[in-house]
Amino acid sequence: NTKYDYLVVGAGLFGAVFAHEAALRGKRVKVIEKRNHIAGNIYTKTVDGIQVHQYGAHIFHTSDKAIWDYVNQFAEFNRFTNSPMANYNGQLYNLPFNMNTFNELWGVQTPAEAKAKIQSQIEAAHLNGQPKNLEEQAISLIGTDIYQKLIKGYTEKQWGQAATALPAFIIRRLPVRYTFDNNYFNDTYQGIPIGGYTQIVEKLLDHVEIDVETGVDFFADRDAYLANYPKVIFTGMIDQYFNYQLGELAYRSLRFETETVNTGNYQGNAVVNYTDAETPYTRIIEHKHFEFGNGDPEKSVITREYPADWHRGDEPYYPVNNQQNNALYKQYAALAKAEGQVIFGGRLGQYRYYDMHQVIHAALVTVQAELGDLPQ
Ligand code: FAD
Repeated sequence: NTKYDYLVVGAGLFGAVFAHEAALRGKRVKVIEKRNHIAGNIYTKTVDGIQVHQYGAHIFHTSDKAIWDYVNQFAEFNRFTNSPMANYNGQLYNLPFNMNTFNELWGVQTPAEAKAKIQSQIEAAHLNGQPKNLEEQAISLIGTDIYQKLIKGYTEKQWGQAATALPAFIIRRLPVRYTFDNNYFNDTYQGIPIGGYTQIVEKLLDHVEIDVETGVDFFADRDAYLANYPKVIFTGMIDQYFNYQLGELAYRSLRFETETVNTGNYQGNAVVNYTDAETPYTRIIEHKHFEFGNGDPEKSVITREYPADWHRGDEPYYPVNNQQNNALYKQYAALAKAEGQVIFGGRLGQYRYYDMHQVIHAALVTVQAELGDLPQ
């Protein structure tokens, strides 16, 4: 269709930021989205007066003031601080690992006592040389107790593999804090958009130069799209775009079970991680606590999150960025470079675990390279 300058495939955050910025620069943009709603994985919808995070808990956090100001144009944010709890066989612990956790585990009261305890456990493990797998890596950083109770079961469920079979690099660093501070993130800015995330994407796409169509898969009509649009921003799976010609990239998937419960406060916190091996889900999200308990005082909406293997056709939530997949991605990226008409962006297009602030940044960098500054 010659009247458009760009076709954006995917109405997630990357596609929406690109479309918005292109429209501000006077370009006409068509956005197609295969799901029946916009906003990609940050989609939220109202259930019983509560904003439900449909694709898992999303907490916005960044230390980049420009990105924080950018996203605040499209929503007002509350002062939510992510302080997840861990439930290990019915015992509760604070996360991330901090003085509260150490006190709960061992009764220690000072940072010196906590450090000594962790150090003695690391030494008692008698690990030699470079850690050979995730288990050794975790123990070498934090000792056996925290590894056994708060890392092992959770990580094995997440990846569907034994910790001794997982590479050490998955845990390069662990968030450890020798203060009584349950704030999960170290970033300067953190919050949840009041009224949910979907409005951000709605406002990004609300422009006379942008047309949006949901329920449309690029691959249903790929040749026609490529023939009719001078330039394409593709935020779907890069390996699928190239028809898996070099092989499949690996992803992890998730299954969400959401239900309304007849209690105003189910677990007293937005996020509780289940870190034992027996509980089949990794966490329960209680959505109303992202908004300080707003919503029906008699009801609450909770979501259990189950990690799942990924097979073609499933939702690809997490790229599995091990050496093999990253090497394969590099080969696809070389093909992508040669494909002058198409720019690959976002979590699936660049096969990278992007947080929201990073995906906004990446989209703005793409806009800058493609279209330059906003006209004065
Ligand atoms: P997406 O949101 O996946 O958008 C891509 C869109 O393209 C999708 O809507 C898809 O349906 C569409 N599409 C794909 N293929 C086609 C096709 N062939 N035709 C048409 N449309 C297509 N980030 C944070 O900052 N904080 C968090 O707390 C956080 N928690 C997360 C929890 C979970 C469980 C997950 C999975 C992610 C989390 N993230 C978090 C990351 C955040 O979701 C991403 O940064 C962001 O959604 C990426 O946007 P995107 O546009 O790259 O991808």
